[in-house]
Amino acid sequence: MQPVYVPGRIRIGGLVASSTTTTRRPIDVVTGAHTTNRKPTVDSNPEPQTSRVIIKPRRAQPFFSRHPWVFAGAIQRIETPDEKLNPGDEVTVHSSKGEFIARGLINHNSNIRVRLYSWIDEPLADDFWRDRVQQAVAMRSRLFEGSQTNAYRLIASEADGLSGLTVDRYGDWLLAQFTSLAVHQRREPIITALNELVKPRGIWMRTDRGVLDAEGLELEDGLVSGDEPDRPMFIQQNELQFGVDVTEGQKTGFYLDQRGNREAVAEYVRGRRVLDCFCYTGGFGIAAAKLGGSTDVTGLDSSEPALEIAGANAELNGVAEACRFEKADVKTRLAELKEQGEQYDVVIMDPPKLARSRGGLQRALKAYLKMNQSAVNLLPPGGILATASCSGLVSHEQFEVVLAAVARESGRPIRILESRSQPADHPVSPNCPESRYLKFLICEVG
Ligand code: SAH
Repeated sequence: MQPVYVPGRIRIGGLVASSTTTTRRPIDVVTGAHTTNRKPTVDSNPEPQTSRVIIKPRRAQPFFSRHPWVFAGAIQRIETPDEKLNPGDEVTVHSSKGEFIARGLINHNSNIRVRLYSWIDEPLADDFWRDRVQQAVAMRSRLFEGSQTNAYRLIASEADGLSGLTVDRYGDWLLAQFTSLAVHQRREPIITALNELVKPRGIWMRTDRGVLDAEGLELEDGLVSGDEPDRPMFIQQNELQFGVDVTEGQKTGFYLDQRGNREAVAEYVRGRRVLDCFCYTGGFGIAAAKLGGSTDVTGLDSSEPALEIAGANAELNGVAEACRFEKADVKTRLAELKEQGEQYDVVIMDPPKLARSRGGLQRALKAYLKMNQSAVNLLPPGGILATASCSGLVSHEQFEVVLAAVARESGRPIRILESRSQPADHPVSPNCPESRYLKFLICEVG
């Protein structure tokens, strides 16, 4: 079908143009403005239609392969039949030859211009969102049936076919993080489904500031339904207990994705001196003391409130004697410790996300190299380096290359004993490699 151009009132990302009837006009993918002044012709089909996003020639393969992120650079043009196209509107995505690829939601304010949700040409109605939530919840029920762990990721964005939505369960409460404006607009069927399927005491919403700016979202953190969460609330991760402040803590309050890695490191610490860098509320160090039996654990972090909770968590698990937590900048402290001739048998490195954009990747890799080198400097031969990267933009291969560079630069052989990732409640979509974001290497340093 030929595109039809009629003057229209079109509004995208704050841009307004005039129109009176049904139109389908190409739109500049960057500014949202019309790209043509061609003379309009009359649409023979007056039915309102979904806008069509046309992908550039030879750029459609990832979307046929079900990668859910369409960046602006892949878009040739947008044809809109309606009088306006607003951020969050539903669109169909097509190849340059006009073949249907997928249904998605558009946001001109976001680098991810269209997020794709369905490769079937059916509307993304309330039932669709409910179904996706139901599938994610059912998977976790199977995973955690009979387990004492009561805090886990219930919905993991792309990996659960819900790009832009993360929901964590913390005991009786849910914590929802919307990282897409379009999904936030559809929160009602999602929240209703969560309430019906999980029956939490309450649902609290938290959102990362950086993400809000990237999406043009204006959200207030707060209660979405039910009762306010207890402060702190207590969660169980297998044999460990943690106090969590979901309203004030970082991310959604606790790093649930390191559950299995904390238990794995604990296997290497008996009778050994442990340094837990970027310890936050004590996850790795407390696991080392309680599960691994280390009696000498030091945690370092720059956040005072996190360290206070870490101390309380050590007490809660009966390992306060074995753990001490220090407020410090990790880089400065590692240099001082080296200067003082201190040694640790096990050093854990779990820094915050260092690569936030492709442009920042090289800088991030260099930072990983430097910080892991400083860690290696504190290890005797036979010491253990347990090192993480949670930047989705850094691949597992690239992270291993960083370790190769650490070995070369420090002149110390490194053997990777375990190459780990994220737990099953943070699944991976093979169509979206970025969803396998967590890298965790347990290494022996010679
Ligand atoms: N290992 C933790 C999670 C770490 S999250 C766990 O198992 O729960 C990253 C932590 O790094 C945050 O607590 C943050 O406060 C801390 N941080 C960030 N930059 C830092 C720096 N330069 N020095 C010390 N801590 C830092």
